[in-house]
Formats: sequence, structure tokens, C-alpha cells
Amino acid sequence: MFTPRKMGKAFFVNSGSEANDTMVKFAWYYYNALGQPNKKKFIARDRSYHGTTVASSSLSGLPTMHKKFNLPLPFVLHTNCPHYWRYHLPGETEEEYSTRLANNLLELILKEGPDTIAAFIAEPLIGAGGVIPPPATYFEKIQAVLKKYDILFIVDEVICGFGRLGTMFGCDKYNIKPDLVSLAKGLSSAYLPIGAVLVSPEVSEVIDSQSTEIGGFFHGFTYSGHPVASALAIEALKIYKEINIVDKVNKISPKFQDGLKAFSDSPIVGEVRGTGLVIGIEFTKNKSPNDFFPREWGVGAYFSAQCEKNGLIVRAAGELIMMCPPLIISPQEVDELIRIFGKALKATEERVQELESQLQ
Ligand SMILES: *Cc1c(COP(=O)(O)O)cnc(C)c1O
Repeated sequence: MFTPRKMGKAFFVNSGSEANDTMVKFAWYYYNALGQPNKKKFIARDRSYHGTTVASSSLSGLPTMHKKFNLPLPFVLHTNCPHYWRYHLPGETEEEYSTRLANNLLELILKEGPDTIAAFIAEPLIGAGGVIPPPATYFEKIQAVLKKYDILFIVDEVICGFGRLGTMFGCDKYNIKPDLVSLAKGLSSAYLPIGAVLVSPEVSEVIDSQSTEIGGFFHGFTYSGHPVASALAIEALKIYKEINIVDKVNKISPKFQDGLKAFSDSPIVGEVRGTGLVIGIEFTKNKSPNDFFPREWGVGAYFSAQCEKNGLIVRAAGELIMMCPPLIISPQEVDELIRIFGKALKATEERVQELESQLQ
């Protein structure tokens, strides 16, 4: 099912975090086998989310995941979060912004020494870190830099994989040609824990011959490829094909995206962003990316409570609301979702007005 490029092998794990940890070990093993033991560093992005194990939380670009945990481990470097709305310079187009980020990545690589960088890891669309789709031409420019310096491109498809963005994989959507890919969540429609690492033929060949030489490949988990989880995953993949899940997402997502993006005009909404069946709504003051409501107002929490009261569960992370509905959501359910969302938004606008008037 993974068609963005030909992959060689799949290695099964039990979660997205294990998949990303495994990819780190694969990359190190690969470069050791090639006689380039200095290639050890990973570059990840600010605001990315890659999981909670020691390596995967190090890769994640969320300060709360590092604080007091002695993380990130020093092998991880972080580069810019590609959030155009928040970080572009005045007058800078999306394309120019992407060029600037690719140049920053290039500078970081040159500063550290290209022969010390093993891999770059990215989610096609940043999920838990705030639903951040890449700006136009971003991955094209990033991939050109990585290619030039022989740096593996590792793609975390744990959220984007299996239809979420309206393509089977995030790599399809953004024309990414990865060396390694991590999968989990949608692999079993999340009904049982299973994940996988897809490895390109070039990389798996090197790993294979190294293993033969040293007498085995010593990485694996008790439950790798567990028969029950595997049976369920096979069935999930079969159903995705049978019901043409990608087609389904593409039919329903304009209703979902346009319906919610229509709330962009609200005075308390800074940005509504997303694609396919994932969306983020950020509450800010004065429609500005850097003008935040006082934390103690709990605007996001208030909104979320209003939704819940009316039968809609959203995820609130501070003033950021994230939604990732089931891929089989019906048009009627989308209507209902938007109706409740609108009602909760109105109540939240009134609440903010009230709090603002108390300040005066
Ligand atoms: C959920 C997630 C992970 C971690 O997966 P777990 O199964 O919770 O370990 C990794 N990467 C991304 C992009 C995710 O959304």
C-alpha cells in the first residue's frame, strides 16, 4: 500500500514510539555498517511529536516533554517549526518562508558537519504539536538539502498514514521520498497496539549484510508482529481498500474543513488550519499569532467544556483545539459537529468579552 516509493522491508513494533526508537537504531546501525560511525546526530523540528520513549521524546520538539526528564539526549538537534502563520516575516510568501527554513537547515548541517548527521525526521503534517501543515514547497526544498549531504530522510507517518490527509500516506500528499517510515495508529485503525518501520531496499540491504557478518540482527520485541494484532491490522488494511478510505476522506473533508474554516472570522480565533480529516483551531487575541489570552482565563478549556456539554469531544492543549474525527464520519455527523462547534464558540466569545470587560 505504500506507493510514494518502493520500500524493501517492514519491521513490526507495538507503538509509534517504538517505531521511532527503532528508526534511530536502524540509522546508527546503517551508518556503522557503511563505515561512517560519525554519522550519529538526528535533526528534528521544533513542535514535532514523535512519542514518549527516551529517543522518541528526545526527537519531539515540545519543551514540556523534555523539562525535568534530562531530555533531549544530545544526539538530537532541533530546527525550525514550519508554521507559516506564526513565524513568517512581514511580506514573506510561503515559498520564501520555505526557502528560508531550508537555508537554516543547511546552515545547521554545515555548522555541525554533514559527516556527523545521520538523519532528519519529520511528520508530513505536524499533529499533536499543533496541526501544522507544511508551507508550499517546504518538503521539496528540505529534501534537496538532505540529498546533497547524504542524510537519511525519516518520515513519521503515525498520524498521517492510512488516509488521514486524504491520501493514503502523508508522503503521497507532499511528494516525499523517504528512506524509513514509521507507522502505527491507523495501521490497526488503533483497535490494537501495532506499529511498523518501513525500510528502503538500499538501507535494508546494508542492515542485512551487516547482520549476516556479525551473526544476527539483535533488535526486536517480545510482541513484534504479535499474531492477534497482525490479524487485526490485516483486516483493517483490507477494509481500507474495500471501502476506499481515501476516496471517503476526500468526499467528506471539504465539508469538514470549509465548515470549520468558516469560523476563522470569529474575533477570538487566530487561525484554523488543517487538511483532510485533521484540524486545529487556535484562540488568540486580536487575530495575532503572538498575542495570547491570559493563561488563567482558560479559553481553550472553557471552549472544550462547552463542546462536551453539547456532546462533542475535542482535544484542548492550552488555547489550541485539535480534532481528528473517525475517517468514516458521515455528512450528518459533520453537520452536527459544526453546529455544536459554533454554539460552543459563541459561548466562548461571550465569556471572553465578559473577562475583557472585567479588566476595564
Ligand atoms: C501518536 C504518535 C506517536 C507515538 O505513538 P505511540 O503509539 O503513542 O507511541 C509518534 N508519532 C506521531 C506523529 C504520533 O502522532
